[in-house]
Amino acid sequence: MISFENVIENESLKTSLITQVNSDKLHHAHLFVGKMGMGTLPIAMAFLKYIYCSDRKTNDSCGSCSNCVKIDKLSHIDIHFTMPSFKIDKLSGELMEDFRAIYSEKSGIFDSKDWMDHHGQYNATIRAKEISDILNNMSMTAHGNGYKTQVIWMVEEMGLESNKILKILEEPNSETIFILIAESMERLLPTIISRCNIHRMESISDTFIDNYVREHRSKASEDILVNAVRFANGDLIEAIRYIDDFDSEFSLEQALRKFMRGLTKFETRKFQNINFMLESCEDLAGQNKQLQVKFLEFMLYFVHQLMRYKTTRTCSASEVLMAVIQHYESIVELDQIEAWMKIVDNNIRAVYGNANMKISFVSLGIELGRILNRKEFEMISTKL
Ligand SMILES: [Zn+2]
Repeated sequence: MISFENVIENESLKTSLITQVNSDKLHHAHLFVGKMGMGTLPIAMAFLKYIYCSDRKTNDSCGSCSNCVKIDKLSHIDIHFTMPSFKIDKLSGELMEDFRAIYSEKSGIFDSKDWMDHHGQYNATIRAKEISDILNNMSMTAHGNGYKTQVIWMVEEMGLESNKILKILEEPNSETIFILIAESMERLLPTIISRCNIHRMESISDTFIDNYVREHRSKASEDILVNAVRFANGDLIEAIRYIDDFDSEFSLEQALRKFMRGLTKFETRKFQNINFMLESCEDLAGQNKQLQVKFLEFMLYFVHQLMRYKTTRTCSASEVLMAVIQHYESIVELDQIEAWMKIVDNNIRAVYGNANMKISFVSLGIELGRILNRKEFEMISTKL
Protein backbone atom coordinates (compact mmCIF):
# COMPACT_ATOMS: atom_id res chain seq x y z
CA MET A 1 0.00 0.00 0.00
CA ILE A 2 1.71 3.15 -1.14
CA SER A 3 0.39 6.53 -0.09
CA PHE A 4 2.01 9.84 0.88
CA GLU A 5 2.17 8.66 4.48
CA ASN A 6 4.63 5.88 3.70
CA VAL A 7 6.59 7.53 0.92
CA ILE A 8 10.10 8.06 2.32
CA GLU A 9 10.93 11.68 3.24
CA ASN A 10 10.57 14.22 0.38
CA GLU A 11 8.18 16.19 2.59
CA SER A 12 8.17 19.43 0.62
CA LEU A 13 7.44 17.64 -2.63
CA LYS A 14 4.53 15.80 -0.98
CA THR A 15 3.14 19.08 0.28
CA SER A 16 3.34 20.73 -3.11
CA LEU A 17 1.63 17.78 -4.83
CA ILE A 18 -1.15 17.71 -2.23
CA THR A 19 -1.63 21.47 -2.59
CA GLN A 20 -1.85 21.18 -6.36
CA VAL A 21 -4.56 18.50 -6.24
CA ASN A 22 -6.59 20.44 -3.68
CA SER A 23 -6.28 23.68 -5.60
CA ASP A 24 -8.17 22.19 -8.56
CA LYS A 25 -5.48 23.55 -10.83
CA LEU A 26 -4.02 20.22 -11.72
CA HIS A 27 -1.36 20.31 -14.39
CA HIS A 28 -1.89 17.61 -17.02
CA ALA A 29 1.75 16.58 -17.52
CA HIS A 30 4.08 15.72 -14.65
CA LEU A 31 7.70 14.71 -14.77
CA PHE A 32 9.09 13.06 -11.63
CA VAL A 33 12.88 13.07 -11.69
CA GLY A 34 15.14 11.19 -9.31
CA LYS A 35 16.96 7.94 -8.76
CA MET A 36 14.45 5.12 -8.36
CA GLY A 37 16.11 4.42 -5.02
CA MET A 38 14.85 7.79 -3.79
CA GLY A 39 11.27 6.55 -4.14
CA THR A 40 10.37 8.26 -7.41
CA LEU A 41 7.78 5.70 -8.50
CA PRO A 42 6.10 5.48 -5.06
CA ILE A 43 5.62 9.24 -4.80
CA ALA A 44 4.16 9.37 -8.32
CA MET A 45 1.76 6.56 -7.41
CA ALA A 46 0.81 8.22 -4.10
CA PHE A 47 0.06 11.37 -6.12
CA LEU A 48 -2.16 9.45 -8.57
CA LYS A 49 -3.93 7.73 -5.70
CA TYR A 50 -4.62 11.10 -4.14
CA ILE A 51 -6.01 12.42 -7.43
CA TYR A 52 -8.28 9.41 -7.98
CA CYS A 53 -9.34 8.76 -4.38
CA SER A 54 -13.08 9.12 -3.92
CA ASP A 55 -12.73 9.87 -0.21
CA ARG A 56 -9.69 12.12 -0.24
CA LYS A 57 -8.41 13.42 3.13
CA THR A 58 -6.59 16.70 3.70
CA ASN A 59 -3.15 15.12 3.46
CA ASP A 60 -3.58 11.71 1.91
CA SER A 61 -5.77 9.27 0.02
CA CYS A 62 -8.19 7.11 2.02
CA GLY A 63 -6.51 3.84 1.05
CA SER A 64 -9.76 1.90 1.05
CA CYS A 65 -12.07 3.22 -1.69
CA SER A 66 -12.21 1.14 -4.87
CA ASN A 67 -9.93 3.58 -6.74
CA CYS A 68 -7.29 3.40 -4.01
CA VAL A 69 -7.45 -0.40 -3.90
CA LYS A 70 -7.14 -0.71 -7.67
CA ILE A 71 -4.26 1.75 -7.86
CA ASP A 72 -2.42 -0.15 -5.14
CA LYS A 73 -2.67 -3.23 -7.36
CA LEU A 74 -1.72 -1.21 -10.45
CA SER A 75 -4.94 -2.42 -12.02
CA HIS A 76 -7.03 0.73 -12.38
CA ILE A 77 -8.71 0.60 -15.76
CA ASP A 78 -8.05 4.28 -16.53
CA ILE A 79 -4.35 4.18 -15.70
CA HIS A 80 -2.17 2.86 -18.49
CA PHE A 81 1.48 1.96 -17.89
CA THR A 82 4.37 1.95 -20.31
CA MET A 83 7.82 0.74 -19.38
CA PRO A 84 10.99 -0.48 -21.08
CA SER A 85 10.65 -3.86 -22.75
CA PHE A 86 13.00 -6.38 -24.27
CA LYS A 87 13.81 -7.79 -27.64
CA ILE A 88 11.18 -10.47 -27.24
CA ASP A 89 7.80 -9.63 -28.64
CA LYS A 90 6.11 -8.55 -25.41
CA LEU A 91 5.10 -4.92 -25.03
CA SER A 92 4.18 -3.08 -21.83
CA GLY A 93 0.61 -4.38 -21.80
CA GLU A 94 1.86 -7.97 -21.67
CA LEU A 95 4.52 -7.17 -19.07
CA MET A 96 2.06 -5.69 -16.57
CA GLU A 97 1.87 -8.88 -14.50
CA ASP A 98 5.64 -8.77 -14.02
CA PHE A 99 5.53 -5.06 -13.27
CA ARG A 100 2.83 -5.58 -10.64
CA ALA A 101 4.79 -8.41 -9.06
CA ILE A 102 8.00 -6.45 -8.71
CA TYR A 103 6.10 -3.31 -7.59
CA SER A 104 4.45 -5.22 -4.81
CA GLU A 105 7.56 -7.19 -3.84
CA LYS A 106 9.79 -4.10 -3.60
CA SER A 107 7.17 -1.56 -2.46
CA GLY A 108 7.73 0.41 -5.66
CA ILE A 109 11.45 0.87 -5.06
CA PHE A 110 13.18 -0.80 -7.98
CA ASP A 111 15.10 0.41 -11.00
CA SER A 112 15.80 -0.72 -14.51
CA LYS A 113 18.49 -3.12 -13.34
CA ASP A 114 15.96 -4.88 -11.09
CA TRP A 115 13.53 -4.89 -13.98
CA MET A 116 16.08 -6.42 -16.32
CA ASP A 117 17.30 -8.93 -13.74
CA HIS A 118 13.70 -9.96 -13.20
CA HIS A 119 13.49 -10.93 -16.89
CA GLY A 120 17.05 -12.15 -17.21
CA GLN A 121 17.33 -9.87 -20.23
CA TYR A 122 19.24 -6.65 -20.73
CA ASN A 123 19.20 -3.59 -22.97
CA ALA A 124 15.59 -2.72 -22.24
CA THR A 125 14.12 0.22 -24.13
CA ILE A 126 10.72 1.75 -24.68
CA ARG A 127 10.03 0.71 -28.22
CA ALA A 128 8.43 2.59 -31.10
CA LYS A 129 5.54 0.10 -31.09
CA GLU A 130 4.42 1.43 -27.70
CA ILE A 131 3.64 4.87 -29.07
CA SER A 132 0.49 3.89 -30.93
CA ASP A 133 -0.81 2.24 -27.74
CA ILE A 134 -0.14 5.43 -25.80
CA LEU A 135 -1.81 7.67 -28.39
CA ASN A 136 -4.71 5.29 -28.68
CA ASN A 137 -5.20 5.07 -24.95
CA MET A 138 -5.02 8.80 -24.41
CA SER A 139 -7.55 9.51 -27.17
CA MET A 140 -10.25 7.56 -25.32
CA THR A 141 -12.38 8.88 -22.53
CA ALA A 142 -12.11 7.47 -19.04
CA HIS A 143 -14.28 4.52 -18.02
CA GLY A 144 -14.88 6.00 -14.62
CA ASN A 145 -15.77 9.60 -13.85
CA GLY A 146 -12.22 10.72 -13.41
CA TYR A 147 -9.10 11.11 -15.45
CA LYS A 148 -7.43 9.00 -18.08
CA THR A 149 -3.77 8.59 -17.10
CA GLN A 150 -0.66 7.49 -18.91
CA VAL A 151 2.32 6.57 -16.73
CA ILE A 152 5.66 6.18 -18.52
CA TRP A 153 8.25 4.60 -16.23
CA MET A 154 11.90 5.26 -17.18
CA VAL A 155 10.80 7.66 -19.90
CA GLU A 156 14.45 8.37 -20.78
CA GLU A 157 14.51 4.95 -22.43
CA MET A 158 12.10 6.26 -25.03
CA GLY A 159 14.78 8.17 -26.93
CA LEU A 160 13.73 10.10 -30.00
CA GLU A 161 10.43 8.24 -30.13
CA SER A 162 9.24 10.57 -27.40
CA ASN A 163 8.87 13.20 -30.15
CA LYS A 164 5.73 11.40 -31.18
CA ILE A 165 3.96 12.12 -27.90
CA LEU A 166 4.79 15.83 -28.00
CA LYS A 167 1.58 16.83 -29.69
CA ILE A 168 -0.63 15.05 -27.19
CA LEU A 169 1.45 16.48 -24.33
CA GLU A 170 0.94 19.94 -25.76
CA GLU A 171 -2.73 19.66 -26.65
CA PRO A 172 -4.10 16.93 -24.43
CA ASN A 173 -7.72 15.89 -24.38
CA SER A 174 -9.43 17.23 -21.35
CA GLU A 175 -9.28 15.06 -18.25
CA THR A 176 -6.01 13.40 -19.09
CA ILE A 177 -2.87 13.14 -17.03
CA PHE A 178 0.64 12.21 -18.05
CA ILE A 179 3.01 10.94 -15.37
CA LEU A 180 6.53 10.69 -16.72
CA ILE A 181 9.12 9.10 -14.44
CA ALA A 182 12.84 9.43 -15.09
CA GLU A 183 16.08 8.97 -13.22
CA SER A 184 17.66 11.99 -14.87
CA MET A 185 16.73 14.64 -17.40
CA GLU A 186 19.98 14.27 -19.33
CA ARG A 187 18.54 12.02 -22.00
CA LEU A 188 15.12 13.65 -22.24
CA LEU A 189 14.22 15.91 -25.13
CA PRO A 190 14.05 19.56 -24.03
CA THR A 191 10.69 19.80 -25.79
CA ILE A 192 9.32 17.08 -23.50
CA ILE A 193 10.75 18.66 -20.35
CA SER A 194 9.34 22.07 -21.18
CA ARG A 195 5.79 20.72 -21.36
CA CYS A 196 5.89 19.15 -17.92
CA ASN A 197 5.43 20.21 -14.35
CA ILE A 198 8.77 19.03 -12.96
CA HIS A 199 9.03 17.34 -9.57
CA ARG A 200 12.57 16.67 -8.40
CA MET A 201 13.22 14.03 -5.79
CA GLU A 202 15.48 14.77 -2.85
CA SER A 203 18.18 12.37 -1.75
CA ILE A 204 17.17 10.08 1.09
CA SER A 205 18.93 11.10 4.29
CA ASP A 206 21.94 9.12 5.53
CA THR A 207 20.10 8.48 8.81
CA PHE A 208 17.22 6.81 7.00
CA ILE A 209 19.53 4.76 4.78
CA ASP A 210 21.63 3.75 7.76
CA ASN A 211 18.58 2.43 9.61
CA TYR A 212 17.28 0.79 6.47
CA VAL A 213 20.45 -1.15 5.66
CA ARG A 214 20.83 -2.24 9.28
CA GLU A 215 17.31 -3.61 9.18
CA HIS A 216 17.50 -5.24 5.74
CA ARG A 217 21.12 -6.40 5.69
CA SER A 218 21.71 -7.06 9.36
CA LYS A 219 24.41 -9.66 8.68
CA ALA A 220 26.73 -7.28 6.83
CA SER A 221 29.80 -6.08 8.70
CA GLU A 222 29.86 -2.66 10.33
CA ASP A 223 32.48 -1.46 7.87
CA ILE A 224 30.40 -2.43 4.85
CA LEU A 225 27.22 -0.92 6.32
CA VAL A 226 28.92 2.39 7.01
CA ASN A 227 30.44 2.51 3.53
CA ALA A 228 27.16 1.56 1.91
CA VAL A 229 25.52 4.66 3.36
CA ARG A 230 28.37 6.86 2.15
CA PHE A 231 28.47 5.36 -1.32
CA ALA A 232 24.69 5.37 -1.77
CA ASN A 233 24.50 9.14 -2.03
CA GLY A 234 20.86 9.24 -1.00
CA ASP A 235 19.81 6.27 -3.10
CA LEU A 236 18.37 3.29 -1.21
CA ILE A 237 18.86 0.86 -4.08
CA GLU A 238 22.55 1.73 -4.38
CA ALA A 239 23.03 1.21 -0.64
CA ILE A 240 21.60 -2.29 -0.78
CA ARG A 241 23.52 -3.13 -3.95
CA TYR A 242 26.75 -1.94 -2.44
CA ILE A 243 26.27 -4.45 0.37
CA ASP A 244 25.13 -7.26 -1.91
CA ASP A 245 28.12 -6.69 -4.17
CA PHE A 246 30.33 -8.10 -1.50
CA ASP A 247 28.50 -11.41 -1.73
CA SER A 248 28.45 -11.60 -5.50
CA GLU A 249 31.34 -12.59 -7.73
CA PHE A 250 31.76 -9.08 -9.04
CA SER A 251 33.06 -6.59 -6.52
CA LEU A 252 33.44 -2.97 -7.56
CA GLU A 253 36.27 -2.44 -5.14
CA GLN A 254 38.23 -5.41 -6.44
CA ALA A 255 37.54 -4.51 -10.06
CA LEU A 256 38.81 -0.99 -9.45
CA ARG A 257 41.93 -2.19 -7.70
CA LYS A 258 42.74 -4.61 -10.50
CA PHE A 259 42.15 -1.97 -13.15
CA MET A 260 44.29 0.60 -11.36
CA ARG A 261 47.00 -1.91 -10.65
CA GLY A 262 47.36 -2.36 -14.37
CA LEU A 263 47.95 1.32 -14.96
CA THR A 264 50.78 2.06 -12.65
CA LYS A 265 53.84 0.56 -11.17
CA PHE A 266 51.68 0.23 -8.13
CA GLU A 267 53.16 -2.97 -6.75
CA THR A 268 55.84 -4.56 -8.88
CA ARG A 269 56.98 -1.35 -10.56
CA LYS A 270 56.95 -3.05 -13.93
CA PHE A 271 55.08 -2.05 -17.07
CA GLN A 272 53.84 -5.61 -17.52
CA ASN A 273 51.23 -4.79 -14.92
CA ILE A 274 49.18 -3.60 -17.85
CA ASN A 275 47.93 -7.19 -18.16
CA PHE A 276 45.87 -6.60 -15.03
CA MET A 277 44.19 -3.68 -16.71
CA LEU A 278 43.49 -5.70 -19.88
CA GLU A 279 42.06 -8.60 -17.87
CA SER A 280 39.95 -6.18 -15.92
CA CYS A 281 38.64 -4.68 -19.20
CA GLU A 282 37.66 -8.18 -20.37
CA ASP A 283 35.71 -8.72 -17.12
CA LEU A 284 34.02 -5.35 -17.34
CA ALA A 285 33.09 -5.70 -21.02
CA GLY A 286 31.30 -8.94 -20.11
CA GLN A 287 29.05 -7.21 -17.57
CA ASN A 288 25.75 -5.52 -18.34
CA LYS A 289 25.45 -1.80 -19.00
CA GLN A 290 24.25 -0.94 -15.52
CA LEU A 291 27.23 -2.58 -13.88
CA GLN A 292 29.62 -0.96 -16.35
CA VAL A 293 28.19 2.43 -15.46
CA LYS A 294 28.35 1.53 -11.79
CA PHE A 295 32.02 0.67 -12.12
CA LEU A 296 32.71 4.04 -13.76
CA GLU A 297 30.67 5.84 -11.12
CA PHE A 298 32.59 3.99 -8.48
CA MET A 299 35.81 5.21 -10.08
CA LEU A 300 34.45 8.78 -9.91
CA TYR A 301 33.63 8.24 -6.26
CA PHE A 302 37.19 7.04 -5.73
CA VAL A 303 38.62 10.10 -7.48
CA HIS A 304 36.43 12.41 -5.37
CA GLN A 305 37.65 10.72 -2.22
CA LEU A 306 41.24 11.01 -3.46
CA MET A 307 40.78 14.72 -4.06
CA ARG A 308 39.18 15.16 -0.67
CA TYR A 309 41.98 13.34 1.06
CA LYS A 310 44.56 15.35 -0.82
CA THR A 311 43.06 18.66 0.20
CA THR A 312 41.60 17.96 3.66
CA ARG A 313 43.45 14.81 4.82
CA THR A 314 40.10 13.19 5.53
CA CYS A 315 37.80 11.07 3.39
CA SER A 316 35.00 8.57 3.77
CA ALA A 317 36.40 5.63 1.77
CA SER A 318 36.64 2.11 3.15
CA GLU A 319 39.88 0.82 4.59
CA VAL A 320 40.75 -1.07 1.41
CA LEU A 321 40.21 1.98 -0.79
CA MET A 322 41.99 4.15 1.71
CA ALA A 323 45.19 2.15 1.15
CA VAL A 324 44.94 2.84 -2.59
CA ILE A 325 44.13 6.50 -2.00
CA GLN A 326 47.16 6.94 0.23
CA HIS A 327 49.32 5.47 -2.48
CA TYR A 328 48.07 7.85 -5.16
CA GLU A 329 47.74 10.88 -2.98
CA SER A 330 51.41 11.82 -3.15
CA ILE A 331 51.92 11.10 -6.85
CA VAL A 332 48.76 12.55 -8.37
CA GLU A 333 48.32 16.29 -8.79
CA LEU A 334 45.00 18.12 -9.00
CA ASP A 335 45.26 18.72 -12.76
CA GLN A 336 45.66 14.96 -13.25
CA ILE A 337 42.59 14.37 -11.10
CA GLU A 338 40.63 16.79 -13.25
CA ALA A 339 41.69 15.02 -16.47
CA TRP A 340 40.86 11.69 -14.81
CA MET A 341 37.31 12.75 -14.00
CA LYS A 342 36.76 14.02 -17.53
CA ILE A 343 37.72 10.79 -19.24
CA VAL A 344 35.64 8.70 -16.85
CA ASP A 345 32.70 10.95 -17.58
CA ASN A 346 33.24 10.43 -21.33
CA ASN A 347 33.27 6.71 -20.78
CA ILE A 348 29.93 6.82 -18.98
CA ARG A 349 28.52 8.49 -22.08
CA ALA A 350 30.10 5.76 -24.22
CA VAL A 351 28.18 3.08 -22.31
CA TYR A 352 24.91 4.82 -23.14
CA GLY A 353 26.02 5.40 -26.71
CA ASN A 354 26.36 1.66 -27.39
CA ALA A 355 30.10 1.86 -27.98
CA ASN A 356 32.19 -1.32 -28.03
CA MET A 357 32.83 -1.41 -24.30
CA LYS A 358 35.97 -3.50 -24.41
CA ILE A 359 37.63 -0.91 -26.62
CA SER A 360 36.25 1.90 -24.45
CA PHE A 361 37.62 0.40 -21.25
CA VAL A 362 41.02 -0.33 -22.76
CA SER A 363 41.29 3.19 -24.13
CA LEU A 364 40.22 4.54 -20.73
CA GLY A 365 43.02 2.48 -19.20
CA ILE A 366 45.66 3.65 -21.65
CA GLU A 367 44.63 7.28 -21.41
CA LEU A 368 44.54 7.11 -17.63
CA GLY A 369 47.91 5.41 -17.59
CA ARG A 370 49.27 8.26 -19.67
CA ILE A 371 47.81 10.84 -17.28
CA LEU A 372 48.99 9.14 -14.12
CA ASN A 373 52.46 8.16 -15.31
CA ARG A 374 53.20 11.25 -17.31
CA LYS A 375 56.90 11.31 -16.61
CA GLU A 376 57.35 7.70 -17.64
CA PHE A 377 55.16 8.14 -20.67
CA GLU A 378 57.05 11.22 -21.75
CA MET A 379 60.26 9.27 -21.43
CA ILE A 380 58.94 6.42 -23.54
CA SER A 381 57.75 8.71 -26.31
CA THR A 382 61.10 10.55 -26.59
CA LYS A 383 62.82 7.22 -26.97
CA LEU A 384 60.57 6.13 -29.82
ZN1 LIG B 1 -9.47 6.36 -1.63
